[in-house]
Amino acid sequence: MNYIDYSDFFGVEGFHAFMSNRDQDFAILEHRKCFADSLGLNQSQLVIPQQVHSNRVARVSGSCTLPGTDGTIAQEKDVVLSIQVADCIPLFLLNTASHTFGLIHSGWRGTQLKIGPIALQEMVHDQPGAVRAVIGPSIGQCCFEVGPEVADVFDSSRSIPGNGDRHMLDLKSVVKDQLIEAGLQNNNILVDNQCTFCEKDKYFSYRRDGDKAGRMVAIAGWSETSF
Ligand SMILES: [Zn+2]
Repeated sequence: MNYIDYSDFFGVEGFHAFMSNRDQDFAILEHRKCFADSLGLNQSQLVIPQQVHSNRVARVSGSCTLPGTDGTIAQEKDVVLSIQVADCIPLFLLNTASHTFGLIHSGWRGTQLKIGPIALQEMVHDQPGAVRAVIGPSIGQCCFEVGPEVADVFDSSRSIPGNGDRHMLDLKSVVKDQLIEAGLQNNNILVDNQCTFCEKDKYFSYRRDGDKAGRMVAIAGWSETSF
């Protein structure tokens, strides 16, 4: 199985953050569970938010399925967080002091609704300098064409003109701006510049593949030896 391992960036022993490639369709729950297992994370503790492009962030303490939720935060180390993506941003968060961690699904709607900053309110604990974040593979400005009604809800510096009245939106930078505004340090934010639309052999893309697009999964949790 191919995947990306962001664990080292967080720099806390035992904390792991992974993102799958397109080897399997992780819209299928069984695939997500097998993937978690193969990474050494307890699949029976998997948290499944039923994402709806909202800004609802739930604090969880054990395995659960959460309707209408796009972000989850946990303190307990036996909890394994997951979200599905195919162009939207998977945002990994860890407070390296308190060890509170989070995983957020941030498409343009969730970003407009400030789901990242909402999650951070729950986990910064007056230590914004201790929070590290990874903005994972997602659709890049090269491919994210939107109408003026979408471009206009974000700072004009974050889009460039496209064809006709279209704009090319840099959503990763919008999310990064929000994290900086919430007090995170620039060097504590890793932006993965891979574009899910461009990298067709590596990632699913909803924009590129339409309704038949599969999903990647982002997973965050702790190895058992760190409990
Ligand atoms: Zn692209």
